Amino acid sequence: MKPDKKVILTGGIIIDPLNRNQFQSDIYIENGVIKKIAKIIKVKVAKIINLKDKYIAPGFIDIHCHLREPGREDEETIETGAYAALAGGFTKVCCMPNTEPSIDNEGVVKFILQESGRVGYASVLPVGAATKGRKGEEISEIATLVNAGIIAVSDDGNPISNPFVMRRVLEYAKIFDLPVISHCEVKALSTSGVMNEGLVSTRLGLRGIPDIAEAAMVYEHVLLADYTKSRLHIAHVSTKKSVEIIRWAKEKGIDITSETCPHYFTLTDKMCSTFDTNYKVNPPLRTKADVEAIKEALADGTIDAIATDHAPHLTSEKEVEFDLAPFGMIGFETAFALGYEELVQKKYLNLVDYIAKLTVEPAKVLKLENPAITIGKKANLVVFDTKAKWTLKKESIFSKSKNSPFIGKELPGKILKVLLADKIFDFPNQ
Ligand SMILES: [Zn+2]
Repeated sequence: MKPDKKVILTGGIIIDPLNRNQFQSDIYIENGVIKKIAKIIKVKVAKIINLKDKYIAPGFIDIHCHLREPGREDEETIETGAYAALAGGFTKVCCMPNTEPSIDNEGVVKFILQESGRVGYASVLPVGAATKGRKGEEISEIATLVNAGIIAVSDDGNPISNPFVMRRVLEYAKIFDLPVISHCEVKALSTSGVMNEGLVSTRLGLRGIPDIAEAAMVYEHVLLADYTKSRLHIAHVSTKKSVEIIRWAKEKGIDITSETCPHYFTLTDKMCSTFDTNYKVNPPLRTKADVEAIKEALADGTIDAIATDHAPHLTSEKEVEFDLAPFGMIGFETAFALGYEELVQKKYLNLVDYIAKLTVEPAKVLKLENPAITIGKKANLVVFDTKAKWTLKKESIFSKSKNSPFIGKELPGKILKVLLADKIFDFPNQ
């Protein structure tokens, strides 16, 4: 891609999620750096991009995704995943360590960082395995992983079931001021469940995963975080009970953070009646009351951030009985629109607070630099149109895997461009 040396973004509305502000302004970018922000900017021989009625925000940050490389390059690679992330407006994504081999050694961390730099799309920030092989037994060499460049630790996909091991992980991670991202699931309760336990699972005759399988571990890990005064981040919150525990913890002043994913505020377990395995995710889709609780938790700050849990799987793996299909759906390319429809249009969040859940809030969880549109900073920006409607088509999905239940759905709000310093990526509405 040929870089644009001088660019003026004109007529757009800038969203400043840090100061919870929005205003109309031009932006002048030279060699990938923001040089000027003013009402009207004129510069000779600059490329002018008219963004009237469009919004400009800092690039989104995804705390939680699966890029499958190394090991399952047939499902996704760092290259295809990082490009799909850009198409969803994400300029930074954290990849979970359930690769093959897992991210529990220096070599894999370095490989991911190198590959991310080579492809030059969304920056990939590796999350190291908290325990060796993500087995929940022996703690990883976190110091070595930190030196290699991890940003957090997690055994995601697996819970850390032994509270003694979790305590040690929290204590060890604390030395490096690293967040521990917890996938909360009491395996003795979820057993071999494939969907939420409730009326729908009973009617369908499918094995259920009760909401307490998540909430019980949320409570245990919150107590451990309080006891060790370490940084705990609860991944993919799906139930009302978990929300109530996190709200209680925050009110008590326990310093934890949490995320949820678009499917937990848009879909219920009723969708499993279709037997479409794209609705099979872990934690599972819950009830209407849970969905409502998740949206209220996003609105009142109990849930800090929105992450995708982008989990690519081949069609051939998903086209099996519900019981046998792997858990997970892709999420990069639909996340923004789903949140816009469900949270902004339905007035749980205003647009600026919504964008904060995709930018400054995840940055706080990870202690990254504040994502702001500031003079002197690299132009890592996303441009979107809230008035545009589009339909997700299988053939236009950039992710290597197409396992989305939203194919064919009309969505409001379209990512149009992503700027990565002097590179401009276009994602026109077709
Ligand atoms: Zn998980």
